[in-house]
Amino acid sequence: MRILLVEDDPMIGKSVQDALKKQESYAVDWVRDGVAAELALGNGVYDLLLLDLGLPRKAGLEVLSGLRARKSPIPVLILTARDAVADRVAGLDAGADDFLVKPFDLDELGARIRALMRRHSGRASPVIEHGDLKLNPLTHEVELDGKPVILSAREFALLSALLERPGAPLSRSQLEERIYGWGEEVESNTIEVYIHALRRKLGAHWILNLRGVGYMVPKEP
Ligand code: CA
Repeated sequence: MRILLVEDDPMIGKSVQDALKKQESYAVDWVRDGVAAELALGNGVYDLLLLDLGLPRKAGLEVLSGLRARKSPIPVLILTARDAVADRVAGLDAGADDFLVKPFDLDELGARIRALMRRHSGRASPVIEHGDLKLNPLTHEVELDGKPVILSAREFALLSALLERPGAPLSRSQLEERIYGWGEEVESNTIEVYIHALRRKLGAHWILNLRGVGYMVPKEP
């Protein structure tokens, strides 16, 4: 999962980015003003926007209004100051899905993000099930036929991306976009290496390689 974080406070930005990368193995890109946020959002690669409201160059509310005016469905979680009740209300009215008041606990941020993504994907239960395969985004546990499967953080992120839409292939570059943030070194064959590891651990039939197109989890496992 790839997140855009928009925050001009360097300490908050750094701690949020570090925590989400390490604890949740999300790819997190961080920009520090509203104009940079709009440029980054133009790529359309993000699964979630974490948006501070008081930002240089362009206010967070303006960024949000513009996003919704362009009919972007991306889930948005607002990060706001304690005394800014009016801002929070305006943010929700402008199309934010949730907000968190600063200073917030990083574990709570992780939990809010998971809840938001569950609501967004229409799943009430946190566990993703596909055939005999179960994947828990909260605990990062994976089970196949009732037996635990141990995956690395990157393998888990890759499998989660593929399981969002079984039967729909993702290209190598789409997968790279999902599991790496900016400035993270991507070696040329890493996706293949992770796919190979996943097929070895789960069974080759779980991940199909469509030559020249990409990879997918079959619709009917
Ligand atoms: Ca700010």
